[in-house]
Amino acid sequence: MKTWRDWMNGVIDGWFPLTCAYCLQPISDEGLCCDCMELGRDLLTVEPKIDLDGMEVFVAYRYEGIVQELVQRLKYGKDMHAGTGLTHLMRMAWTSRAISAPDLVLPMPLSVIRRAERGFNQTEIVAKPLAASLGVICTHAGLKRAHRPRQASLGRQARLTNVVGSFRCTRPCHGDVLVVDDVLTTGATLLAARDALIHAGANSVRAAVIAQVVD
Ligand SMILES: [Zn+2]
Repeated sequence: MKTWRDWMNGVIDGWFPLTCAYCLQPISDEGLCCDCMELGRDLLTVEPKIDLDGMEVFVAYRYEGIVQELVQRLKYGKDMHAGTGLTHLMRMAWTSRAISAPDLVLPMPLSVIRRAERGFNQTEIVAKPLAASLGVICTHAGLKRAHRPRQASLGRQARLTNVVGSFRCTRPCHGDVLVVDDVLTTGATLLAARDALIHAGANSVRAAVIAQVVD
């Protein structure tokens, strides 16, 4: 039997029909249409994991096409609809590769200043639903990030030194931590975060990134 809430949801869907987060054609469920999911599937990386100085990093996609555009729409255009699309792409990559679940998911933190400038943390938008689908908690676990120049504004060598020592944990950490980040270039940020988490007591630190910049 239809409840009042079902009836209201039907009315709201009529006013605001669901659309694909990329091509904006009408769809029956939130996320991406089948055609756009296929565009994403074509960008899945050949190797699901890379070794980054001893850290296992799950890389979902090449940073191109639909993946690059959705990341940029979310990050710089504050387009939460794009974030929903990225969440669906991330789930597809994770489940299709049968990667083991961690004890907790940790979205890569922004500095307090960057967070205030942007108004949100783009990695939280993807990390929270991913953690929910894996059945684990999503938390910053006391990991704090100092304010430094944007990595994207720096050359390769400067990126490597810019983030050294820029993370610290304000409380002890335990278990297998999965750090979620958006784009992997040099990996310097992930390594700096890993070092702080291990220093705080994490048993192991892995990472999952939406996409890797491929030269
Ligand atoms: Zn579409």
